[in-house]
Amino acid sequence: MTMPSMAFFIEHPATKSKIVFDLSIRKDLTKYHPGLQKHIATRDPISSEDDVKSALALGGCDSGEIDYVIVSHIHWDHVGTPSDFPNATFICGHNTDKLLNNQMGEDLYNPYYEPDLLPKDRTIELPAVPSQAEGEVFEPERGWRWQSKHDIPHAIDMFNDGSIYIINSPGHVPGHLNALVRVAADKWVYLAADACHHARIFNGETDFGAWKDDKGRTITIHKDLDAAYKTLSMMQRLQREGLDGSLVEVVLAHDGEWQEKNARFFFPNHI
Ligand SMILES: [Zn+2]
Repeated sequence: MTMPSMAFFIEHPATKSKIVFDLSIRKDLTKYHPGLQKHIATRDPISSEDDVKSALALGGCDSGEIDYVIVSHIHWDHVGTPSDFPNATFICGHNTDKLLNNQMGEDLYNPYYEPDLLPKDRTIELPAVPSQAEGEVFEPERGWRWQSKHDIPHAIDMFNDGSIYIINSPGHVPGHLNALVRVAADKWVYLAADACHHARIFNGETDFGAWKDDKGRTITIHKDLDAAYKTLSMMQRLQREGLDGSLVEVVLAHDGEWQEKNARFFFPNHI
């Protein structure tokens, strides 16, 4: 099957802050690690013609205007071209820097990670979630702390007004992040990135992808399977029961059916 790798543009009305959640695929595929280019060649057909910078330009937004880039995780189909965002602060999950430098052990080793992917002086790597839900402020300038939001154990209220949350969503890789965005008085959109790869998994019709590695061990697409199941059930509950009396629509990064059904909302339009 072919599938999209979606990125999302979010505007915070009160502060006029511009946020991008994920950067999709790099426009110039030759700028990826040579080994990764070989892998990508097996993903045929692939199109990176429209990347986040060019998609923003369609709506008259220069990528230099973006204030924040939230990186759900550092796999190649989500990191795009960070240098296209010279004024953005990058937000990534706990242990991202260690992961990029392959300091997280054999099972998490990936020869294609780029240690200098994110600009060191403009990146906020979130701290580990606290053992108790309500944490201390770790980012005084922005008043950020891990806190619970109903069934969501660890969320950061980005502007301290209950409109945009960064969500700890473990399972796929360490530090995987989601976002929860209020788009109307009675509606939230939950950006699930790679916490779930297909609507059939989300609907319970099938399980996470699994295969045998070269040592004959069964591995799955999620590095921490228990955590991935917990994250999945949290998202299923949100969509089923809503939040604060409002609907929650969960959107998966690679959901081609959602992309087709919602084509009319793509930038410069909006949900
Ligand atoms: Zn992905």
